[in-house]
Amino acid sequence: MLDQDTNQKTFKTGDTIMKQGEPGNFAYIIEEGHVEILVEKPDGTEQSVGTRGSGTMIGEMAIIDNAPRTATVRALEECKMLEISAVDFARRLEAADPILRMSAQVILTRYRDMLARADIIGDVKSWPPPEAVELTYAEKAQAIQTIKMSNDFKAAIDNGEIYLHYQPIINLQTGEVAGFEALMRWEHPEKGFISPELFIPMAEDNGLIIEATRWALRESCSALKRLEQACDKDGELFMSVNFSSSDFSVDNFVETTHQIINDTGVKPEQLHIEITERLLMDQPETAKKRLKVCQDAGMSIAIDDFGTGYSSLSYLHYFPIDTLKIDRSFVQDMMKKESSMALIKSIVSLAKNMKMKVIAEGAETIEEARVLKELNCDLCQGYFFARPAIEKDTTQTLQNWEKSDL
Ligand code: C2E
Ligand code: CA
Ligand code: CA
Repeated sequence: MLDQDTNQKTFKTGDTIMKQGEPGNFAYIIEEGHVEILVEKPDGTEQSVGTRGSGTMIGEMAIIDNAPRTATVRALEECKMLEISAVDFARRLEAADPILRMSAQVILTRYRDMLARADIIGDVKSWPPPEAVELTYAEKAQAIQTIKMSNDFKAAIDNGEIYLHYQPIINLQTGEVAGFEALMRWEHPEKGFISPELFIPMAEDNGLIIEATRWALRESCSALKRLEQACDKDGELFMSVNFSSSDFSVDNFVETTHQIINDTGVKPEQLHIEITERLLMDQPETAKKRLKVCQDAGMSIAIDDFGTGYSSLSYLHYFPIDTLKIDRSFVQDMMKKESSMALIKSIVSLAKNMKMKVIAEGAETIEEARVLKELNCDLCQGYFFARPAIEKDTTQTLQNWEKSDL
């Protein structure tokens, strides 16, 4: 019996839950009860190969390859099952890290092959050789490319292919440069420029982001000191650095961050930590604890891409947050879409009410910059003011800066 709302099924003692040889496009997690797994031998007799109880999964092979069931499963008592459909599973698999995706598929294929060779499930001939199946998995998951890119990235930090661009952030009320955002760039020797939208998620998946962030933090803080000296503004500007979830899960995150700013001579007040809402939701307690220590030390915490993530705003109370960064998609649509304009207004008033600062991102025209100033945004970054650039060019931009009168 299937409960339509919860994908839960109940079976009575003796019911056949799955039948060997029949097509299957779902697996079950046993919520309550016990089942017996039986294999039909070529002579037609059934042989019990084990039992499973609550919390275990049955029928898992078919949801990966849609091949017929390799065993019959019967209820030994009343059983409650939760169904996982092949469609749902495929969607989850698609979203998984390519290496994990390929590994899950390969393990099941080898398992099926082993059962077939041991004559437990029979019918070896109808089953393609694992090598062929695995190759399609690798291609589909783009696993080989992902591994290559990971290996290249590891070397890239050491050999200077990774570098930083700095984008000025402007105080809208004074028209002066208040700070910068450090943005990572990768110039691959063969592939050329690789977008951070591509390599950052990859570095997050394989853990290399931790080393990359530490490098970016050290590099950008040293650059901040040089930029300040070049325009006689020692200790007056800030550097905003992007952090990922994995950075926060490292136990010595706070100590390392402190160490780097001390080494480079930057005051804690000059470091702005940019994180996304997703990071906060991923590990709320760790994030809260570590961000609080950073904030108490004087660092600023900014929520990046604000407005694109989770709908609940209650987290703004829970976490120590100093600044909201309005996502550039809203700024880009602001003049065309009333809803985007309304959203920007709401974010500004929300921030003001909560004593936070607002940075608008992605202003490309003078009109956008003017409107953002009128709306009371504190700070703004965008191509209208300056594009992200290497340190040398940013130094020049800063030295030639004329207060922008909007
Ligand atoms: P983000 O943190 O939202 O960075 C702002 C992005 O907006 C940058 O893209 C910047 O070049 C772009 N931008 C700024 N002003 C304008 C504008 O007026 N118009 C348009 N069209 N774009 C503008 P970028 O450099 O391609 O970076 C993309 C994303 O990659 C970043 O988005 C961030 O999520 C990630 N990223 C970049 N560097 C790092 C890093 O060092 N660490 C981490 N964890 N993520 C990074
Ligand atoms: Ca950012
Ligand atoms: Ca952003």
